[in-house]
Amino acid sequence: MNFDLPEEHELTRGTVRELALERIAPVAEELDREHRFPYEIVAGLAELGLMGIPVPEEYGGSGGDTLSYVIAIEELSRVDSSVAITVAAHTSLGTLPILLYGSEEQRREWLPDLASGKRLAAFGLTEPGAGSDAGATKTSAELREGQWVVNGSKIFITNAGTDITSCVTITARTGEDEISNLIVPNGTPGYEISAPMRKLGWHASDTRELSFQDCAVPEGNLLGERGAGLRQFLEILDGGRISVAAMGVGLAQGAYDLASAYAKERRQFGKAIAEFQAVRFRLADMATEIEAGRQLVYKAAWVKDQGGPIATEAAMAKLYTGELSNRVVNAALEIHGGYGYTDEYPISRFYRDQKVLEIGEGTNDVQRMVIAKALGL
Ligand SMILES: Cc1cc2nc3c(=O)[nH]c(=O)nc-3n(C[C@H](O)[C@H](O)[C@H](O)COP(=O)(O)OP(=O)(O)OC[C@H]3O[C@@H](n4cnc5c(N)ncnc54)[C@H](O)[C@@H]3O)c2cc1C
Repeated sequence: MNFDLPEEHELTRGTVRELALERIAPVAEELDREHRFPYEIVAGLAELGLMGIPVPEEYGGSGGDTLSYVIAIEELSRVDSSVAITVAAHTSLGTLPILLYGSEEQRREWLPDLASGKRLAAFGLTEPGAGSDAGATKTSAELREGQWVVNGSKIFITNAGTDITSCVTITARTGEDEISNLIVPNGTPGYEISAPMRKLGWHASDTRELSFQDCAVPEGNLLGERGAGLRQFLEILDGGRISVAAMGVGLAQGAYDLASAYAKERRQFGKAIAEFQAVRFRLADMATEIEAGRQLVYKAAWVKDQGGPIATEAAMAKLYTGELSNRVVNAALEIHGGYGYTDEYPISRFYRDQKVLEIGEGTNDVQRMVIAKALGL
């Protein structure tokens, strides 16, 4: 067993780290304060081929593996979670359904612009009445004269309303016991997008409510087999969970970096606070947990790259890193004392950005349900 990362993965880490430190870190606080979507950063990521890492080159992506992709997401989250979720939701949730389930025609139509980062895509599963219970989808799509006519609503949809969003893939009921996936292009009459939702964190990420009123899309916008929609979306979520787990590791690592630097600099009782055993032990615990979480995430990514089933590995990685990032960011803020509670220090942004990692793409309880089922319980 060899735990050394191959050179290409170290290269990805180095490239993303450099970009995160040089181009994202200087503006992260301002984007968060102004709730501003990071268009310039997305363009910079696109230039480096980071908006479609796991998409084959023939469709405009970089042809990388899942491990490269999660390393990129980890490094972005180490600096700015809003940017990281923009890339992760676009890649895992917006683009991959079209790659995995789309016809050749659909792939050629949508993927080049998405994988190259010119445009963004969103994934619309959650509804006001269907969250953890995603199968309770009420949005309907009826086939009338060669068009799917969509009625219903979605909530909390990431990347749905930016100036460069091209489409959202939604689940809709196409029969009594039948859920299918449909691509709905932005700008389709009857498709309304709310103003950005106001949130605790991820202030620079775009989150919207969507409403569909007699919104007609071509019959050819059905994605994959009719009736396979829920199964397809659940598969997509398994993959997406690995990238959210990478966000947990990255955010925790970033919080650790801030706390460690602060502890060495801040003096009380005539010493740097890092010299107090209570503070050192906290930092030691944080570093240990982060390393454990990272191994879970990399293993899940590796299993995916080997083509193995990933539901359990992904759920374990997401559950553990969600909770570890909570513990780590909490301890990191405490090490900052009162200064950590002000917006003058980035740790307060990390603290606000953390909580959703235990909610989005399945809550902690939902991960436990998946794991318990796999254990035969
Ligand atoms: C910022 C943000 C971005 C998001 N982006 C997207 C997106 O791009 N696309 C998308 O489709 N969705 C998105 N979501 C939605 C997200 O996936 C859901 O919020 C999540 O799945 C939980 O659903 P819910 O909010 O309806 O909570 P609920 O399902 O109502 O859960 C409420 C509580 O009940 C618990 N619970 C529910 N059922 C059970 C059970 N059977 N056993 C034990 N406990 C249970 C949950 O664990 C939770 O603690 C986003 C959410 C947020 C906050």
